[in-house]
Amino acid sequence: MKELSIMLDPGHGAGVAHNRGFVNIPDRSYNNEGDNNFIFVRDYLTPEFLEYEGIRVGNTRQAITDNPSIEARGKMAKGYDLLISSHTNAASGTGQGVEIWDSTNPKESIKVLCDAICANIAKEIGTVNRGTKYKKSSNGSNYYGVLRNGLAKHNFIIEYAFHDNYNDIIKFVGNMKGAAEATAKAIADYYGLKKKGNTVDPVPPVQNNNTVKIRYKDSVKEVSRILKDDTNYVNVREVLEFTGHRVDWNGVDQEIVIDGDTLINSDKEITGYGKYFKTEHLEVVETYPNGIYTQFVGGKTCRQTGAYSGSGVYFDPSTAPVTSSRSIVAIAVNGGKPIGENSHTADYTNRYKRGAIVTRPDNTAEFIRINNISEIKREYDVVLGGISMGTEYNPVKEGFIPANKNDDVLRSTFHTALACKKDRVYHITSLGNCTLAKFNEYIMKELGLEHIIGLDGGGSSQLYFEGDKGKISDRILPMVIGFKKVG
Ligand SMILES: [Zn+2]
Repeated sequence: MKELSIMLDPGHGAGVAHNRGFVNIPDRSYNNEGDNNFIFVRDYLTPEFLEYEGIRVGNTRQAITDNPSIEARGKMAKGYDLLISSHTNAASGTGQGVEIWDSTNPKESIKVLCDAICANIAKEIGTVNRGTKYKKSSNGSNYYGVLRNGLAKHNFIIEYAFHDNYNDIIKFVGNMKGAAEATAKAIADYYGLKKKGNTVDPVPPVQNNNTVKIRYKDSVKEVSRILKDDTNYVNVREVLEFTGHRVDWNGVDQEIVIDGDTLINSDKEITGYGKYFKTEHLEVVETYPNGIYTQFVGGKTCRQTGAYSGSGVYFDPSTAPVTSSRSIVAIAVNGGKPIGENSHTADYTNRYKRGAIVTRPDNTAEFIRINNISEIKREYDVVLGGISMGTEYNPVKEGFIPANKNDDVLRSTFHTALACKKDRVYHITSLGNCTLAKFNEYIMKELGLEHIIGLDGGGSSQLYFEGDKGKISDRILPMVIGFKKVG
C-alpha cells in the first residue's frame, strides 16, 4: 500500500494575542487566527486525512496553547512527505480568496499539487482562486520562515481565506468540513490514495461457513452470509439495524423503508388536538403528521383565530402587508397547494435549498431540502419551509449571514421550530430568549430530534393551545400552523 506522511502546522498560538485582525463572528468561538487554525487542523483537516488509506498525520501544536518557533515547526516535519502550514490571510479588509505559498526551492516545489488544492478549495467554499505563489528574500532563500526551515520533502502554506474580510472568512468558517475535504481530496488524488472502506471485512470467502463479520466504526458483528460467485453477500436489514437504522416494509408502495430515527415517544397514543408538554427550555405540541394544517389568516394573532395554532413560516411585510397572502415568503402548502403567491419556493433568488417538513397522505412525515415544491417526489399534503436545523444546521449555506442585515432570524429572541419523525410532528417554541443555534441544541438534547426547521420567531413566536397554554403575543400574522383533532 502507498503511504503518505503529512505534518500539519496550524499557524500562530492561542487567544487574542494571535487575533491578527480576525473579524468578530457572533455566536462563534475561535475568532482569532491562531485559534481558528488550530481548530480547523485538529477537528476538520486531521480526521479528513485519516479517512484515506495510507495517510499518516502529525501536528506541530499538540495543544491549542502551544506556539513553537517557526524553526521548530519546520524541523518537526523532518522525515515527512509534506509540511502543510495552515493559515488565514489578512490585507486591507477587502481581500478575498484562497492562495498557496509554495517553496521557492526547485527541489521542494510542488506546483501541480498546490494548484489543484487551490482550485478544489475555491470551488468548494465559493471564493476566488488566487493560485500558487512564490516569494524569495533578497538573499534568494524562501521569504517565509516555515518554508525556509521546512524539512519535509515538500513544504507549503495554505491561506484559506481573508479573516479581516467578513464576507470572505464566513465562506471558510461556515464550511470548514468542506474545505478540509477539498484539501484532502486534492492530495489523495495527486498521490493515488483511496478512502478506507468501512463495511465488509475483506476476508476471503470460505465455504461451509454461513456467517461473516461486518465492522462499523469500532463494533464488529457476525451476520448471515450468502456466498455467490466468490463474493460475500449480506442481508441489508442485518447491516442497517447494526448501524442504528430501522428497516420497515411498506406493503402499499412495495418498498423497503430505511429510517435512522429514534423511536422516543412514538409508542404513545395521541388524543385530542395533540400532546402538550414542556421541557427545561421548550414548549411542545406533539401530534401525528396528519394532525397539522396551515392556513392563510390575513393578519390575526394565533389566539384571534380561535383555533389551536402556532406561528408558521417566514413572512415579509415589506413584500406585502400581512393582510395579503403575498407576504408569506417561505414554503407553505396545505392540501398539496401553496397558500400564497410566493409560498411555493424557499428562496426568490433561486439559490438556496432550505429545510422543509412534508406530510404525506399516508400519515408519515419527512424532512427534505428543497427550493421549490416542484422538487418533491411523492404525493404530499402539508409542506412548511424554514431554516434547516438539527444535524443540517448551517444558516450561512442557506443564505443567512450572521451580523448582516438578514441575521435577524438567528439572534437571541423567542424562536419557533417544526420537527418531525416518520410518524410524528412537533411544533416547538422556546420558553425564553436564545439564539437559533442554542434553540437547535435544546431541541436535539431535550427532545432527541434531528429533523428540524426554524420558523418565524421574535414577536411572531406564538402558540395558542387548549385555553391559556402556549405563548401569547399581539403580533398579527398572515398565516398559522393549526392543530386538528386526531383522536
Ligand atoms: Zn497566519
